[in-house]
Amino acid sequence: MASPTRDNPAAARTPRARQRRGEGQWALGYREPLNPNERSKKDDHPLNVRSRIENIYARGGFDSIDPGDLRGRFRWYGLYTQRKPGIDGGRTATLEPEELDDEYFMLRVRIDGGALTTEQLAVIGEISQTYARDSADITDRQNVQYHWIRIEDMPTIWEKLEGAGLTTMTACGDSPRVILGSPVAGIAEDEIIDGTPAIDEIKRRYLGKPEYANLPRKFKTAVSGLPDVAHEIHDVAFVGVVHPEHGPGFDVWVGGGLSTNPMIGQRLGAWVPLDEVPEVWEGVISVFRDYGYRRLRSRARIKFLVKDWGAEKFREVLESQYLKRKMLDGPAPEAPAAQHDHVGVHRQKDGKFYVGAAPVGGRVSGSTLIKVAKAAERAGSNRVRLTPLQKLLVLDVAEEDVPGLQAELAELGLPTNPSPWRRGVMACTGIEFCKLAIVETKQRAKDLVTALEERLADIQDQVENPVTVHINGCPNSCARIQTADIGLKGQIVTDDDGNQVEGFQVHLGGGLGLDAGFGRKLRGHKVTGDELIGYVERVVRNYLSQREEGER
Ligand code: SF4
Repeated sequence: MASPTRDNPAAARTPRARQRRGEGQWALGYREPLNPNERSKKDDHPLNVRSRIENIYARGGFDSIDPGDLRGRFRWYGLYTQRKPGIDGGRTATLEPEELDDEYFMLRVRIDGGALTTEQLAVIGEISQTYARDSADITDRQNVQYHWIRIEDMPTIWEKLEGAGLTTMTACGDSPRVILGSPVAGIAEDEIIDGTPAIDEIKRRYLGKPEYANLPRKFKTAVSGLPDVAHEIHDVAFVGVVHPEHGPGFDVWVGGGLSTNPMIGQRLGAWVPLDEVPEVWEGVISVFRDYGYRRLRSRARIKFLVKDWGAEKFREVLESQYLKRKMLDGPAPEAPAAQHDHVGVHRQKDGKFYVGAAPVGGRVSGSTLIKVAKAAERAGSNRVRLTPLQKLLVLDVAEEDVPGLQAELAELGLPTNPSPWRRGVMACTGIEFCKLAIVETKQRAKDLVTALEERLADIQDQVENPVTVHINGCPNSCARIQTADIGLKGQIVTDDDGNQVEGFQVHLGGGLGLDAGFGRKLRGHKVTGDELIGYVERVVRNYLSQREEGER
């Protein structure tokens, strides 16, 4: 291999050269911050920002906020500035951050496992009505995201959320984010094991602890007894599996993630019983904290470490340096043939029913959520769940109350027997509020569903599984484009008349479960926003007319 020299800069970028310079791994002695984000976290722990919000910024207003807090540490409490209205996507990359900042915030409420009581749902709705202009989006990480939040209102919002047992703690930032869990945990007839106690215990032991809240980058966790949480693309995931000798427990995956370098997680080959999940989780997050790459933000996710080490070395370090014991070997979980979206009416293992409804792209409102809470209570339920596919479930409904609840939800724009197009659509925040966005997403999702329901009514019955269409406003893949049948990555494209317009790079044929793999990006395969509906219609019609027996 060539030596790195001034005349041969390419050699300096080789993996071996990078290792020599160090990637900012704390465990190897690189404690000096190697980029501005690391510097900011070292200068002041991001968890400290809450007291400044309460005592200084909420009183002094937007202009009193220190820029380092505004664009950095605020995230540890789920706060991002939202995009100034009226800035088109073509200018996103050319403007300075402060030119894109509005004085209002997006706020994420973490809802681990997507599990809420109807009282909590109503509180979320009331906060939205009072402080967020009635905005509320269900995200594909089972959070609720508000918009139009003013810094002055944050102390009261926290008081109300925390009074209901909710939090925004490490909802964003280089920290352990919301933990995904099966939306049907504890009630599904086919569940292998209920992961809820492990999720609760991880939160109880580790959430908000400074030593787990300064990571190289974000850390996404899933714990589920069913393969219904996209476990393949998490930093760490615990997936239900039955050990031949020890019974139900969890298979451990590490190093999955999407964005611009998508990777499927790797199995460690270890089986973990329910009560050991928190300890193993702590071990994995500690390996990431200590050995993760802090030099380049673009290589700081755990997936790069796992890719370089491989699953075997990762497991060896986890066991020898952190757990101080061996884990048991275990089998792989069975891959599901189709995506569980939980929409519709389904029997629970206790004989009651859960009812799944489909908003488009997760968009609801505070008022709608309050009405859902009341409708659920009228149907005898006090539990709802949000799903990783931006859907909403009401649990524990007696059979005789199901039709009434379905009618009420439909009245609220939340059908429980939606078209396959409505079921299959997801959309990220997009240009309406997101500063990184290049194109509009939520309204496009709505227009697409309305148009497909009209144009494809003749073939709707031929679709056994919803055709998934995931719409992203930029390359970051918040809406998991690489895992959709049709994944749309927002970018500026050239239309037939040579104009630069909003459009999408298309990824085709992605999926998780049995077909786990990323959609193929075909060179030059782009559509403009205006062509999108016709394009999706053609793809679906061609697939249905040309597919072979059993082809998904
Ligand atoms: Fe924003 Fe891009 Fe994520 Fe969409 S994918 S929410 S545009 S960062």
